[in-house]
Parts: sequence; C-alpha cells; structure tokens
Amino acid sequence: MAQPKYLTSDSAAIGEFLDKFDVFLFDCDGKELFKQELQTGVNPCVGVLWSGDHLFEGTVETLELLRSKGKKVVFVTNNSTKSRQDYQKKLTGMGIPSNIEEIFASAYSSAIYISRILKLPAPRNKVFVLGESGIEQELRTENVPFIGGTDPSLRRDMTPADFAGLADGSMLDPDVGIVLAGLDFHVNYLKISTAYQYLRRGAVFLATNLDSTLPMSHTFFPGAGSISIPLINMTGQKPTALGKPSQAMMDAIEGKFHFDRSRTCMVGDRLDTDIQFGIEGGLGGTLAVLTGVTKKEHWESPDASFRPAYYVDKLSDLRGGSS
Ligand code: PLP
Ligand code: CA
Repeated sequence: MAQPKYLTSDSAAIGEFLDKFDVFLFDCDGKELFKQELQTGVNPCVGVLWSGDHLFEGTVETLELLRSKGKKVVFVTNNSTKSRQDYQKKLTGMGIPSNIEEIFASAYSSAIYISRILKLPAPRNKVFVLGESGIEQELRTENVPFIGGTDPSLRRDMTPADFAGLADGSMLDPDVGIVLAGLDFHVNYLKISTAYQYLRRGAVFLATNLDSTLPMSHTFFPGAGSISIPLINMTGQKPTALGKPSQAMMDAIEGKFHFDRSRTCMVGDRLDTDIQFGIEGGLGGTLAVLTGVTKKEHWESPDASFRPAYYVDKLSDLRGGSS
C-alpha cells in the first residue's frame, strides 16, 4: 500500500488534489460531547465536519469553497437515528446550506434498499423495526409498511402471555418479511424475542449499520451494530448492512447521482468505515481528516488494513489551495 500524501494548509498540492475530483462524499460526525465539556474544553472534539453540536472552525467556508468550484457535496452518515429531514435541520442550524438529496443517512439507505433493490412482493414486505423515528420516517417516505420501532406498546417487560404468544406465533404479524435493526434506545427482551421469531420464520435480516460503539465523551455506548448481536448470536446469520463500509450504501448513492467513481473522493475519519468504504467502492481518492478518531500511527502500523490516499490535519486546510 502506498503512503498517504500529506496535504498541508499551504501546499500547492491542495489545488491539484481539488482538481482531481468532481464529487466529495463527507462523513459527518465524530463523537458527542456533553454540554459542560464543550464549555470547558476538558475533552477534545472529534469528528470531520462537527463533533456533536460543535462545528469545526472553517467547515462552512470549506464546503462553500468546494461548491464555488462546482464540486458536488454529499453528506454520508451511519447515524441511523435521524432521517434526512432531521439531518437537514442539523445542517441548517449549523449554517450549512443543503439540499435533502445531498444527504445519505443509513436510515435512508436502508429504506431505499428495501423499496428499490430488495422489492419483496406485498404483503410480505412489512418490516419489523428495531430503531428510532428516523428509520420510521424514511420507511414512510418510501411507502414501506412497518411495525415495531417507537411503538410504545413494546416498551415493557415480557409477560407469560408474551412468551406463549411468540412461541405459537399468535402475536406475530404474518406480513412481516424483513427485520431491520438500527440503534434503538429502548431495546428490550420483548423486542429482541419478537425480531428473532420473525427471523426464524424466514424474514430477511438487515442492519442500518454495524458500528459496534457510539463514541460519547471519554467513553463508548452501544452502537447500532451491538443491537443486532443477540440476533446474530441466536440465528448464526449476519445481517446485510446498509451503512458504511457496506457497498449497498455506495450503490444507493450512485443510483441517485450517477457519479463517476474515478472522480469522487471519500472524506472521513475512520479507516474501518469511511476509508474502507471509499477504497472498496473503487473511488478515485480517499482523504483522512485527523480531527477524528484516526491518528497517523493507525495507518502506519503494519496491521493497518486500509490506508487513505491523502490526509489533512483539519478539514479547513483544504482552503489553502483556494487562492
Ligand atoms: N450512529 C449514531 C447513532 C451516531 O450518533 C453516529 C454519530 O453521531 C454514528 C452512528 C456515526 O456517524 P458518522 O458516520 O457520521 O460518523
Ligand atoms: Ca465519523
């Protein structure tokens, strides 16, 4: 593997780099910090465009610069809890103008995979959702029927009647042909047991994304990938994942924009999601931003499976080639 090329803020190489690409796919987030930490700066912000609610300096200007040069910008995030509308609100709130069509969150890529690629015949095209309202919103937009999700009747302990009803199938909807697992903040034994019964009866197993962790503050919480683990454990099956680095997400983006992969660059902070996504998708380039989780030592290690083609210390260094 070739060594990544360092683009410093004052390097002429930045202009050359920008000229190579027409489309930039942007990873969005890093880790969420608590409000108090943001005020005190006790914990460093980690991300590409922003870290939780903290926008990195120069993000707006860098995106403006790319657009002013006629580049297409697409926001690609594994966050399954938000719909594209939710993301657009976030972008607007941060002063980043966006078109809803430029946003690819894993809830959206899951919905279009189900409606446009999987295309199960009705009535067995109903989805049992483990996840939040962002997934429901995207399924609704694509006219995909679903149950589960934020249904409050599932937020409870299991009763003996539930055990019996799941065992004999009387509590199950015969139209469910898909189980979609995303990050569900109300996951419980009843939901896992219900999802398992659908899988046992032959439902297609999908996951919005397989991020094992949700980085927050100085620690981690369970990510969407950890919600599927009991089901993987029980069934021995692996879900088809619709987030980075899965190429199902790349195909969905390409299906929408018909971009030239050789003139597209993936920008991100994680080697095993963003950079892998770009390399396996055969993109013309990958750019690692060092304000995120990855440090140079990670790809310099002999065990590194993926190496970016380029790297910058921070995203706004790309403005160096604008003059
Ligand atoms: N999943 C959840 C629930 C998140 O909140 C985030 C980041 O905020 C991610 C995944 C990772 O998103 P990204 O692909 O933008 O780094
Ligand atoms: Ca990220």
